[in-house]
Amino acid sequence: MGFRMPEVILPEFAHLIGDSAEITGSGETFAHVYPGNGEVTREIRLADETDVDRAVAAARAAQASWRAMPGDKRRDLMFRLAAVIEQHAAQMSPLLSVENGSILLAGPHMSADAAQKFRYFGGWADKLEGRTVPTWGGSAHDYVGYEPYGTVGIIVPWNGPLFAATMVMAPALAAGNCVVLKAPETAPWSIMKLVELVRLAGFPPGVVNLVTGGPSVGAAMVEHPGIDKIEFIGSGATARKILASAAQSLKPVGLELGGKSAVLVFADADLQAAAKRGLSGAISANGQGCVNGTRLLVAREIYEPYVAMLKAMAAHIKVGDPFGMDTVMGPVISEAALNRIHGMVTRGISEGGRVICGAERMGGDHAAGAFYPITILADVTPESEIARNEVFGPVLIVTPFDSEEEAVLLANDTDYGLGAYIHTTDLTRAHRVAGQMMAGQVQVNGSGEAMTPCVPFGGMKHSGHGRLGGIEGLREFQQVRNVWINLL
Ligand code: NAD
Repeated sequence: MGFRMPEVILPEFAHLIGDSAEITGSGETFAHVYPGNGEVTREIRLADETDVDRAVAAARAAQASWRAMPGDKRRDLMFRLAAVIEQHAAQMSPLLSVENGSILLAGPHMSADAAQKFRYFGGWADKLEGRTVPTWGGSAHDYVGYEPYGTVGIIVPWNGPLFAATMVMAPALAAGNCVVLKAPETAPWSIMKLVELVRLAGFPPGVVNLVTGGPSVGAAMVEHPGIDKIEFIGSGATARKILASAAQSLKPVGLELGGKSAVLVFADADLQAAAKRGLSGAISANGQGCVNGTRLLVAREIYEPYVAMLKAMAAHIKVGDPFGMDTVMGPVISEAALNRIHGMVTRGISEGGRVICGAERMGGDHAAGAFYPITILADVTPESEIARNEVFGPVLIVTPFDSEEEAVLLANDTDYGLGAYIHTTDLTRAHRVAGQMMAGQVQVNGSGEAMTPCVPFGGMKHSGHGRLGGIEGLREFQQVRNVWINLL
């Protein structure tokens, strides 16, 4: 029963250490499960700390020549990788679906996005200019230059591994760093394929190294003295452990964490468009996107019509086989995730949430996989658990507001600060409200278009610090050196 997993050619190797592509690591064996029907796709022998050690040594051996390579040569390699990714998009798409149940239709977009990141940051690689500083009194010649860190460790989550890995790799490589990348064991295939393509594009051995593994492999990377900077994308709970470890080594750590992003719908909004975009917060990445707008704050005068519109639109969303050509939403990552999501929804109802749709596990063909329906709870109070914590599933909550001031207060009344979405046709209001959002990325009349390599992305408050994307993303992987020359 359930949705059949098609034959998919999985990547050959799970680890890349220097020029050694290795099928097995030295760690434990892990059975990867396809969330569409609960079947094991393949057993992987994961890395352990000895493999991390070797990967770091390989990166460090490659470091000096990668840093010294002229920027135009690094640029050309990154452009070549972009082209190779595009050429292999058809092979990448099914891997993205098998690894975490994302819909096949999203695959081409994910490959295109990965290619664009290497193009965008490849374009910076030959423009890593410094600047001169006019000194007070003119007694010295002073200039600022930018240096790579050396070796960057990259740890990413399962919900969008290709997306997350490339948003770090591209700027880190452009800036002249080597990388040790960890593919999450729960969704490893797209990163393994990406690293295969890195080789095909002709990157020198050791510039990009791959270890596949879980928390212990990540912890070994954070502890490793040969890794100069960690970029972590994942949960706040893991970030706390990483920061505790980094407190010993004094290693810099960039953090891209979770969110509870508000969607503000004002009475003057294009209601139809705002409902469609509001619903996307439940659908995008099968409801498991860090920046999904999941906390809908709606002007009271349009509250009921808006909720009714959401319900009607949700009824038309096909949830099912990730490989189906008309499927709009697939499963969540695992049974454990499904149970956690359902628990939060159940408690949200007991705290006063009104069920508009969903809130029950799906049966029939869906029962074998981890399928949870689009769930909308209205009248959720701001203090309830489901209004305050990240659900990380296809669940929207809706709360009314009576004034712009109240909307802003509610939007900012969260520990998180990743995204905020504003729906209004009043441009003055759009700027006024955007300027008050305590969130790293504010979108007006949008729902994800800003997730593009050329603009900075990242969080405020518990959503992390540092930025990926744009010139700010490049700077994350550069250190500043100031040179002061006394004029004799
Ligand atoms: P997680 O924190 O459990 O795991 C993330 C990664 O950290 C995995 O690769 C895991 O193996 C590794 N890890 C676990 N323990 C570790 C340790 N002690 N030391 C080092 N590494 C360790 O998160 P998850 O469940 O995989 O992902 C979901 C979370 O990620 C959500 O909170 C989501 O919002 C967040 N996320 C954020 C962004 C962003 O860009 N802000 C993007 C995607 C996901």
